[in-house]
Parts: sequence; structure tokens; C-alpha cells
Amino acid sequence: MKPVHDMGVAELAAALKSRALSSREATQALLDRIDRQPSLGAFLHLDNEGALARAVKADEALAAGHAGPLTGIPLAHKDIYVTADMPTTAGSKILQGYRSPFDATVVAKLNAAGTVALGKLNCDEFAMGSANENSAYFPAHNPWDTSRVPGGSSGGSAVAVAARLVPGTTGTDTGGSIRQPASFCGITGIKPTYGVCSRYGMIAFASSLDQAGPMARSAEDCALLLSAMSGFDERDATSVQQPPQDFHAQMLAGREGAAAGKPLAGLRIGLPKEFFPAGLSSDVNAAVRAGLAELEKLGATLLDVSLPRTELAIPVYYIIAPAEASSNLSRFDGVKFGHRAAQYDDLLDMYKKTRAEGFGPEVKRRIMIGSYVLSHGYYDAYYLQAQKLRRMIADDFQQCFRQCDLIAGPVAPTVAWAAGTGADDPTQAYLADIFTLPGSLAGLPGMSVPVGAGEGGMPVGLQLIGNYFKEGQLLHAAHALQQATDWHQRAPAGF
Ligand code: GLN
Repeated sequence: MKPVHDMGVAELAAALKSRALSSREATQALLDRIDRQPSLGAFLHLDNEGALARAVKADEALAAGHAGPLTGIPLAHKDIYVTADMPTTAGSKILQGYRSPFDATVVAKLNAAGTVALGKLNCDEFAMGSANENSAYFPAHNPWDTSRVPGGSSGGSAVAVAARLVPGTTGTDTGGSIRQPASFCGITGIKPTYGVCSRYGMIAFASSLDQAGPMARSAEDCALLLSAMSGFDERDATSVQQPPQDFHAQMLAGREGAAAGKPLAGLRIGLPKEFFPAGLSSDVNAAVRAGLAELEKLGATLLDVSLPRTELAIPVYYIIAPAEASSNLSRFDGVKFGHRAAQYDDLLDMYKKTRAEGFGPEVKRRIMIGSYVLSHGYYDAYYLQAQKLRRMIADDFQQCFRQCDLIAGPVAPTVAWAAGTGADDPTQAYLADIFTLPGSLAGLPGMSVPVGAGEGGMPVGLQLIGNYFKEGQLLHAAHALQQATDWHQRAPAGF
């Protein structure tokens, strides 16, 4: 049998089911590995005892024969999900020492499915960032080259999977935070359609954009995790009322009439010309084109489409997301949660000092931008305009989907950049979100699938975007690609 850390979710599930291995053994093996390895900064909190207790319970279920497809699978959660049995910080000092009285719905669903949470994963503070360097605790390091960033904001989630610390993790994606770190770390991630996973207990950044999703090695592993994470939740008013989905079955479902070796026959993939601009790094372009050529070999047809407002997605997102953040983050005032300044004169002074001490520079920047664009004199000029453009960006996608089934392009314009290079000019990092923001603003499902290596041997992800509720189609295409290629199985040297 392979070592536990070499197994993905599906493989490990099969080993557990056959009782070749117990969940306790698998959990212990991964905890030992995490302990042994030089830290990549993936975990903000490890819960060894709790994990082993959960594993023992999973083994009981496995022994009793009422195990589900994920019973006993070790995983870890982005620290943006609240958890009752572990601390939650959202990567922020303001929530240091905070304990939630309840589990986020996504966490509760994964617990109910018998998964074994090992701990909480590092992320950018309140999920604001693209490099995990805005974590108030410590940065996370890319296992492919530890001098580079892992991407963000779900950096710890990507690192933990890429370094084979856990077979799967949860992430969240507001403007690219699942897809971009997945791309930078050579793993697979899916952000489903807005509303597919409950946002209840996911600490809010920009509520009209925030969405949960799984990160794992393969599309198949993501499909298994997403099936368990998703579903209607009456506690989230934007949760979609649809019956539980079996994304794994949808992933496997072939296209009618698809010939052998051509599982994607009839699938039309649109390439927006704006996703292949002159400024796109040549290494990223080459890897993405190679991935597209594979999809073509599998029977898909490639065609040119256009998303003319792609560039506008950056200013639109960086108005709407901070606007919502400035409102959402007003709850962190030292009264109900986490940090409170030790000394203050009066209530107002307590608020000011608490927030000045508790929030990091990027969070403060966004609260200021958000408050500005929502202020009486500027609301019409910024926020209202951004909302109108958001609608037009979503309409552009619908134009494309008249011609094609899926849209493809790069996830990010470059491979992972060197650590420590982003701090001086935050707008540089904002610009790098160009290919993930349009789909987020439209609320569409999107994936990152590893398709090659670029500069310095760093992984490159192919982005696939589907129409609303076409997660099955996305996973099907990604799975077909992964049956034909092995990029998703490669591990960074030494891992
Ligand atoms: N990089 C983007 C930002 O900083 C997206 C983050 C996210 O999706 N949470 O806002």
C-alpha cells in the first residue's frame, strides 16, 4: 500500500472502506508528517487530540458498515470557517482567541459526512489578498519553491494539499481565492456557483461574492468533497434551494454519443480573447495552450469568444468587495468578539483603539475604500456605477454561453511570485486578479486545473468557467483532462 500522504481523497476512501487502513492510522500518519516537516506555515491551529477522537468515531462507523464516501477522510479547514471545537481567527489579530459557539454549515456538513478535521489553515486576513502575506500571524510558503508565495487568500489550504499534509481542504473564493492558490500550488480547486454552498459561519468578507469550495489533488476528489459541502441551508438567505447534488456522478456521466477516447466530443470551449492579452506571461500562455490542446484531443471544440469588460472587472470588484467588507467588518468593535483594547477613555475611543490595533493594513485600506465609495457624496459615482457594470459583466458571459458550453483561459497572468514583493504596491496584486474576478462578479462556477509548469518549474493552472449550476460539466471536463494527463499527480520535490 502507498504511504497515506500519497493518497488522494478517493484512493484513501477506498483504502478505508476495504479496512486495509483505519482512519486513526491515516490521521496519525498525517499528523506525524505535519509534525516532522519543516513548517510551510499552512496551519494556524492543529487539533491532534480532537482529530484522533474524530478518527476513532469514523472507524466505528466504518466497522458498523454505515460509512459514507468520505467517512474517516482527514482534511483541514480554512480559518475563515467558524468551528466550535477549534479557535477561529480569519487570519486576523482581532479574532485572536475567539471561539465560535457553533460550526459553519460547510464544516458541520463535512463533520456529518464523517471527515476528520486536523486543524485550521492559514489565510490572508479576512480573505483579503492573493499571496497569504496579509495573514496577521505568518505567511505560508509555496512547497514548489519556498521562496515564493502560495497564492491567496486560501494559501494554507493550497499548501496543505500540495505538500501532501492532507488530501483535501476547504477554501473560500470571493474574487479568486480558491482558483489562484490552486493554480500557484499545482492542485485542483472549484468555486461553485454563488449559492451552492452555504455561507453560514463563513466569516463574511464580501457577502454577494463569497463562496465556499473544496481544494484537492484532482477533480474527482473535489467532486466528492463538494457533494458533501453543498446544499440548501435556511440559515443563508442566498443559499440556492435545490436538492442535494451528487457531483461525483455528474463528473462521471458521459456525454451522450461520446465515442471511446473522445469523452468531450461535442463540448464547445470558448476562449475569450481578453484572457490572452499581450501581457500574459509566455510560460503561462504555453502551459494553458497545451492544456487546451489536450481538451481538443479529447473531443472538445475550441472557439474564440469575447468578454469585452474583462479589464473593468478589476475596478468594479475593488469597489464592490471593499464596500461590502466595510459594512461586514463593522461588527468587529471590541464588544462581542475577540480583541478589545486594554485601555481607552470612552466607548468611541474603545472602538477606535480596538480596530486600530486589531486590523492589519490591507483590511484597513479596504474599510477606508469601502466607506468612501458608499459615502453620501460618492455613492452614485462609484458604488452605483460598479453595480451597473457588474450586471453588464454578467451579461457578457451569457452572450458567450450562447456560443459555447465552457469558457477557458489562465487563472492568473503569471506563476507564483517571489515572497515579499507585494507589500509596497497593493494595486499590483489587484491587477493579477484579472482573470478570476469576472466570473466571481457574475457568480459563475470556476475551476483551476493544473496543466503544466512555467518559469522556475512553477505550476500553471487552467481556468474553466461554466454557466450557472454547471459544476458537473466543469468537473467532467477537468476529470477527462486528468485521466489523460498527470500534472495533478505531480508533487513538489521532497514532498
Ligand atoms: N485577491 C482578491 C482579493 O484580495 C480575492 C480574494 C478572495 O477571493 N477572497 O480580494
